[in-house]
Amino acid sequence: MIFQQTLGNKAAFSGIGLHTGRPINLTLRPAEAGTGIVFHRVDLSPAVSIEARSANVVSTRLSTTIGRGETSVSTIEHLMAALYSCGIDNAHVDISGPEVPIMDGSAAPFVAGIVKAGTKECGKPRKYLVVKKQVSVVEGDKKVSIIPSRHYKISFDMQFAHPAVRNQSRSMTFSQANFAEEFASARTFGFLSEVETLKAHGLALGGSLDNAVVIGDDGILNREGLRFPDEFVRHKILDSVGDLALAGHRLIGHVKATKSGHDLNHKLVTELLRRPDCFALIEFTPQAFNAPFNLSLPELSWLEA
Ligand SMILES: [Zn+2]
Repeated sequence: MIFQQTLGNKAAFSGIGLHTGRPINLTLRPAEAGTGIVFHRVDLSPAVSIEARSANVVSTRLSTTIGRGETSVSTIEHLMAALYSCGIDNAHVDISGPEVPIMDGSAAPFVAGIVKAGTKECGKPRKYLVVKKQVSVVEGDKKVSIIPSRHYKISFDMQFAHPAVRNQSRSMTFSQANFAEEFASARTFGFLSEVETLKAHGLALGGSLDNAVVIGDDGILNREGLRFPDEFVRHKILDSVGDLALAGHRLIGHVKATKSGHDLNHKLVTELLRRPDCFALIEFTPQAFNAPFNLSLPELSWLEA
């Protein structure tokens, strides 16, 4: 956990884009220390490269989209969550279109592919972004904060008037195993009425019961039902892991979200990075990682409070 990691091998994925409905190929390749996650639109000549960082976010409507000039890649959040959760700091992402394939609507297929490809250390230490002071973004009844904590945690409250959803709350203390078992397979979801409106506007053209939980007036339309009784809030936590990964570092802090989404998550990351008094970037030595509470690092002193 001290050193940056990349993939041990390539990992290839094929699927359709949720919004375009078109087939997309995506290949993850190993990258050197300090690269971060970089998307390459290999369908264009010359290829256009876009770093997956909050500064490159160009839209948060329906999904998180990064862009450079006229070129963009949308719906990156499930792949970003899978990479973060598998401990991948550096990777090249070759993609054949403007949208990450939606797969089954969750991060599980990406996690499985990354685990199969394996990981390897890049030989340079990671910088952890450790939250020292609370940062919050509030818009109406929506709120998201990050506060100091010994762990990376996300607590999410969601509220929908629909009887199939209602109020759902869940907390995740991040670990690769916990994410893989409890959150990675939670699918994206939408209301039938909204899906029909989106399709009429040329969006969600690839959306189907194969890649989303669809909620009708009388309940869930998917014949197989839900993967978890609270699959919706689990997916909101999955989305948050992907959106917050655009901070560009491993996080140590507790995210508390009420009715948050891609837009508020992005605003939180932007606000956090704009406030250097609220965080420290820390490299752990092997000694520090094995016995962090024997240290007198000033950056960690708040942990003892
Ligand atoms: Zn999602």
